[in-house]
Amino acid sequence: MVDFSFSEEQTILRDSVREFADKEIAPRIQDMVKTKRIPPSIIAGMKKLGVLGMTVPEEYNGMGADAVTTGIVAEEIARQDVTAAISVLFLVDNAWSYLLSKYAKDTLKDNVLEKIAKGEIITGVASTEPGAGSDLGSMKTVAVKDRNSYWINGEKSYISLVKDIREIGGGYVTVTKTDPDKGTAGISLFYTPDRESDMELSSLEEMGREGSTWGSLRFINYEVPEENVIGEINRGFKIVHEGFEFARGLIALISASIAQHCLDNATSYMKERKAFGQPIGKFQGIQFGLADHTAKLEAARNIGYKALWMYDQEQRKGRFTRFEVSKEIAIAKLLSTVWSFDAINDALQWHGAFGYTKFNPQELALRGVRSFMLAEGSREIMKTIIARETLGREFIKG
Ligand SMILES: Cc1cc2nc3c(=O)[nH]c(=O)nc-3n(C[C@H](O)[C@H](O)[C@H](O)COP(=O)(O)OP(=O)(O)OC[C@H]3O[C@@H](n4cnc5c(N)ncnc54)[C@H](O)[C@@H]3O)c2cc1C
Repeated sequence: MVDFSFSEEQTILRDSVREFADKEIAPRIQDMVKTKRIPPSIIAGMKKLGVLGMTVPEEYNGMGADAVTTGIVAEEIARQDVTAAISVLFLVDNAWSYLLSKYAKDTLKDNVLEKIAKGEIITGVASTEPGAGSDLGSMKTVAVKDRNSYWINGEKSYISLVKDIREIGGGYVTVTKTDPDKGTAGISLFYTPDRESDMELSSLEEMGREGSTWGSLRFINYEVPEENVIGEINRGFKIVHEGFEFARGLIALISASIAQHCLDNATSYMKERKAFGQPIGKFQGIQFGLADHTAKLEAARNIGYKALWMYDQEQRKGRFTRFEVSKEIAIAKLLSTVWSFDAINDALQWHGAFGYTKFNPQELALRGVRSFMLAEGSREIMKTIIARETLGREFIKG
């Protein structure tokens, strides 16, 4: 029996986040554009709602939220966050805090999880390097063991939230090589708390996500205790994908939600704006476009929830294989980001010249959602995963 409804708790949570987004996020979008930062009042509101670190288990005072419930909150935040910046803070923090909750050692969990659950510290991910993004096996950052510590050296680039984490506090799930000759079999994950002394930060200016921060991290003889290893040494490649997949599923819902906001704007506009003596919504050329995007966004939303549901089933009940989940998540991210971008582009078009003016919702959304065709795994890598799981692994390499 398939049931598409949310539980009573999920509905209550959805409604409170929706109210928060309408009252606190919508009126502050232009502030974010001006200051290029997420207003502290929004972060404070998210803390109060308990949605920062909501994937942290209840024993650490988190909600222990599953992926579907996290997706519901992501969708509601994104409904008003046309910049995508707040959504990025939410999704990165929750997906990667989930990985910490699942795989960190007890001493590390005791140190950080309660603070993450309270929103006092934020979690990011540091995987990409100047010379290696999609191809994790070729990364150069190394962690070398000496007695009870590891010493990390290397540069991570295009990392989201760098200034937020420096200002609010927190750390990264950092992907390194611990056996550099072994490709993906030599990858390990560490929790690396942000600190100025041996983690140099530089900012990058990005195309969209107004309000977000982005940049590089250079680890310079960065010492981290053995207890900060996440999972087992040299087994990080497998684990890191559980974080990526959680994030990708959330991105599918966020993209569709931002696009739906723009489509709703366009629907209102086309009822009012007249050309050739009638509202432009009466032209079939426009109606068919609206119908296509409405259908695709509905499908994107459903695939997004199905993918996150499969993720939960695999994580919590051992149903489905990792690879079945990877494929469904890749389908959701691929379709949703592309369809959402196209919907926003047409919503912008139907606003005529106003659509092309700087900082209107459609142009902010277009630039914000564009980032999701790269972040947490590119569009092409999503296709590679889908093809691999459809054809068989022997068709991928060579
Ligand atoms: C806004 C934004 C935020 C980001 N935030 C983070 C973050 O917080 N942490 C982090 O670690 N990284 C982050 N990234 C980096 C992101 O994960 C990488 O950009 C992405 O994984 C692609 O890596 P790359 O940029 O090195 O491109 P490359 O891997 O060099 O790829 C270049 C092009 O080749 C394509 N390509 C590569 N391999 C294949 C293949 N096998 N088949 C077909 N095409 C292929 C890619 O899809 C891409 O189009 C962010 C990126 C963006 C844009």
